[in-house]
Amino acid sequence: MSENKIFLHSCCGPCTMYPLEALRQEGFAVQGYFYNPNIHPYREFKARLDSYRQMAAVQDLPVQVEEDYGLAVFLEELQDKDLGVYQAKSAERCQTCYRLRLEKAAQACRQAGLKVFSTTLLVSPYQQHEMIKEAGRQAAAAAGVTFLYRDFRPGFRQGQQKARALNLYMQGYCGCVFSEYERYGSKA
Ligand code: SF4
Repeated sequence: MSENKIFLHSCCGPCTMYPLEALRQEGFAVQGYFYNPNIHPYREFKARLDSYRQMAAVQDLPVQVEEDYGLAVFLEELQDKDLGVYQAKSAERCQTCYRLRLEKAAQACRQAGLKVFSTTLLVSPYQQHEMIKEAGRQAAAAAGVTFLYRDFRPGFRQGQQKARALNLYMQGYCGCVFSEYERYGSKA
């Protein structure tokens, strides 16, 4: 029975809109999963989590949520890494960020008894797409599940429009404090 089920890691509510629709059109029964220790500060994390739950209720999406604020975990993972403090994207920082989230998602997928997982990170034209694809494949191999790769990017605008129509909270930056500074501080 689990063959057509998929475990979908979500970065936020708005970015879930299009991948959810596309996967359902493919015939998948989607199980949502929220794990994002990269979102700071806490009020931003809470706003995105609330928005995710709002989206899930409207879309009738069953979800599993890791609701602990993950700042300490995130910073611990970044020890000895090049933080790229004043850069929007940093190879080492973002690679670590993707790996952290997708490793946990792959493990949670297996623990949930599902065999296939994917991520809404693949919808954003602002993310490092190839890096996400590779992190997903490695996480899947380590956990003994399959990573379903799809290029959801062509549906990004459509998904964002639908999210606005639902009045979901729309974030202004990627998630970590480094991306927050790049978005607001560096233009001050
Ligand atoms: S910029 Fe985005 S992807 Fe990169 S480390 Fe920060 S939250 Fe993660």
